[in-house]
Amino acid sequence: MTKYIFVTGGVTSSLGKGIIAASLAKLLQARGYKVTIQKFDPYINIDPGTLNPYEHGECYVTEDGAETDLDLGHYERFLNVPTSQANNVTTGRIYQHVIQQEREGAYLGKTVQVIPHITDEIKRRMQLLGESNEYDIIITELGGTVGDIESLPFVEAVRQLRWELGANNSLVIHLTLVPYLAAAGELKTKPTQHSVKTLLEYGVQPDILVCRTEHKLSQEIRKKLAQFCNVNINAVVESIDASTIYDVPLLMLKENLDKTALTKLKLSSKNEPDLENWKNFLGKLKNPTNDVNIALVGKYVELPDAYKSITEGFIHAGATNECKVKVSYIAAESVTKENVAEKLKGMDGVLVAPGFGERGLDGKLNAIKYVRENNIPFFGICLGMQCSVIEFGRNVLGLKDANSFEMDANTSNPVINLMEEQKNITNMGGTMRLGAYDCEIKKGTKAFAIYGKTKISERHRHRYEFNNDYLKQYEAAGMIASGFNPETGLVEIVELKNHPFFVAGQFHPELKSTVANPHPLFVSFVAAALANKKSK
Ligand code: GLN
Repeated sequence: MTKYIFVTGGVTSSLGKGIIAASLAKLLQARGYKVTIQKFDPYINIDPGTLNPYEHGECYVTEDGAETDLDLGHYERFLNVPTSQANNVTTGRIYQHVIQQEREGAYLGKTVQVIPHITDEIKRRMQLLGESNEYDIIITELGGTVGDIESLPFVEAVRQLRWELGANNSLVIHLTLVPYLAAAGELKTKPTQHSVKTLLEYGVQPDILVCRTEHKLSQEIRKKLAQFCNVNINAVVESIDASTIYDVPLLMLKENLDKTALTKLKLSSKNEPDLENWKNFLGKLKNPTNDVNIALVGKYVELPDAYKSITEGFIHAGATNECKVKVSYIAAESVTKENVAEKLKGMDGVLVAPGFGERGLDGKLNAIKYVRENNIPFFGICLGMQCSVIEFGRNVLGLKDANSFEMDANTSNPVINLMEEQKNITNMGGTMRLGAYDCEIKKGTKAFAIYGKTKISERHRHRYEFNNDYLKQYEAAGMIASGFNPETGLVEIVELKNHPFFVAGQFHPELKSTVANPHPLFVSFVAAALANKKSK
């Protein structure tokens, strides 16, 4: 029987529920359990696909094309197991389903209400992944903070589900903040007491408290938290600030979070967790023998969460190369023809990021021209790839108004065009080219040297594509298409023949980089940046 762990958050948001959930899952997986994690978000958007990255950070895309919360990225990076549509559910999705049922007459004239209809649908969704019996344990992270009006139906669903599942088949972990008052020189337990009281008002008694803190929890503080929140003292888990999120599984192991959870679920903790590969990775991450400077040129740079998976991709690739990757986030809008050399000074490699819309386009083109002409390693992702095509069109092929249809629908040279399948789409949500598609790589190209094979699959999230009417012209001038979709002929990868490293993909390799499998494009790009640095 599948067992369920629910993770709620108290006191404030941004405590890192996703990292705690992923760390616990990692430990359970390392002990031989089959685990997955799902996230329930209490907002009305059907999915985060239509959200500006400034709202909740990047939109993570799964193999099956779900546009999801960025925490799913952490789940995949930690567990190295793909997630799916079912792993991220929002209030909007729940209501959409219930309202559709109501329109179809499925409720047979009954009044449709939050309880039981919305909570029933939440419970159904919470158990969907358990139906296949594929998992021993399903961890469900509830977005938001306990006490929020919008979280209420989810907490109520957890209460009901716990009762239905019966004793020892579920547990609730409450992630909370234990703030340090510098003036008093003390850690404070009151906010946690209040947030647990709120949970109790809703009928949910947490089994384990994970306490985010900047200072170690003394025995006395642990006892106080245990006593006032009705939990066992060994169920008070310290989660102290870590220098990297990849330390958190080991910190949780030290605090016995996994053992405590397993005991409460009446599951064996006989098998010691096998974390050898994880520790190897950490060893390399923390003992780099070199460093490189990479510029990330993008339009959402004020909020690093907007590029979460890219940042993590560099961490994985850095560890593989035993090299610290220092990423400088450069606002695309600020890069001009005049200051580009200054802006990119000291950079060993440049990445142009994914994105939407015209803001920052010129800055991206200026950066690309500079790295192309100065043999600086370049890596383009999605819009970054499209920009490299526009730049080459304008400055090498002399197509002065070369552009993407997205930026200028009237250009006489739409070198990036709207995909045929996109032409009649009017709805914005969930209608891009999404999820995994096959790509065939040409032998003898840089892409082939990087992947070491001809058949790959990568994840997508875009509407526009390379316009194949221009392919001959591009290839004759030295920008070649080294990867294609085998069914549609869409260009997936472009690269420059006479450049040390100029590779750009229409897809998002960052979404597939994990601790266990750092992405080859990131690994090779970091290696190229390192080689560039050494040659200086
Ligand atoms: N805006 C571009 C498109 O829709 C690129 C999208 C992206 O970078 N994810 O095709």
